[in-house]
Amino acid sequence: MTARLIDGKAIAEAVRREAAAESTRLKTLTGQAPTLAAVLVGEDPASQTYVGAKGKACAEAGLGSSTHRLPATATQGEVETLVRQLNAAPAVSGILVQLPLPKGLNEQAVLDLISLDKDVDGFHPMNIGQLVMKGRTPQFIPCTPAGCIALLVRSGIPIAGKDAVVVGRSNIVGVPVAALLQNADATVTTCHSRTQDLPDKVRRADIVVAAIGRPEFVRGEWLKPGCAVIDVGINRIEDASKKSGFRLVGDVNFAEAVAVAGEITPVPGGVGPMTIAMLLTNTVRAFKLQHGLT
Ligand code: NAP
Repeated sequence: MTARLIDGKAIAEAVRREAAAESTRLKTLTGQAPTLAAVLVGEDPASQTYVGAKGKACAEAGLGSSTHRLPATATQGEVETLVRQLNAAPAVSGILVQLPLPKGLNEQAVLDLISLDKDVDGFHPMNIGQLVMKGRTPQFIPCTPAGCIALLVRSGIPIAGKDAVVVGRSNIVGVPVAALLQNADATVTTCHSRTQDLPDKVRRADIVVAAIGRPEFVRGEWLKPGCAVIDVGINRIEDASKKSGFRLVGDVNFAEAVAVAGEITPVPGGVGPMTIAMLLTNTVRAFKLQHGLT
């Protein structure tokens, strides 16, 4: 058996097209475009690349974007002042503080400051809190977890009543993914580094979400035949056959898993492209919230 590939690139492209169409409609209605403001502190090359990619995606979808840079030596007060200014700027629909912040800065304090109706990353504790509370609706859902669910839904994979196992319990992926699956009526088990007999837990799952940060950690023999696998991991491993000297792999051993699973996301080209697509969706949503539009 060979699993059906869940094409994250194509699904992300569809989400981006929808955001672009909605942005065009909003521009016609209001004369303004939804606009993302990114805060970039320090010179971390990966962070610069991510912020650049987000700005490019905004431009391609007809959204506005701006990048606000501070040096790595910026004080907590300077970063917080910038976030307050962006909160107050009417032309800014959504605020993204690129993480990680340089050492010595208090990330939580900065994220807590972002205005709730501009929290397009969905990391404000109020948004996370509402996500995990029954009957409450957050203003924004974090982008990567929202992308995981969109991949399942848009691939026609049922969630309600299914057993789901999420491996990883980070605030940015594992915890919100588990909450979203539960909200979609799956029965969810969250596993982590202290979980005993992980293979046995994974074997029960109709849906497996791996967000661990360990290359090819989940083995094919752990999977229930026919299950759906969403691999969030992005790990660099050495590969002498590549010009760069490395290649990207997920947290799931793809070669093994593809022979057992029913559906699987590749790495790259699975969850990865969904994150920026969902950020565009959230920025459009922020604009509508701020303008009282539906
Ligand atoms: P993280 O904050 O390091 O969390 C990793 C989680 O995995 C923790 O909950 C940890 O458990 C658990 N874990 C570690 N070793 C384990 C083991 N041996 N057995 C079971 N669980 C174990 O990582 P993250 O930020 O969630 O990211 C996870 C992966 O997703 C990374 O590869 C990252 O690059 C990728 N990622 C991709 C995207 C994207 O596609 N756009 C976005 C975000 C992250 P404890 O809680 O017990 O420590």
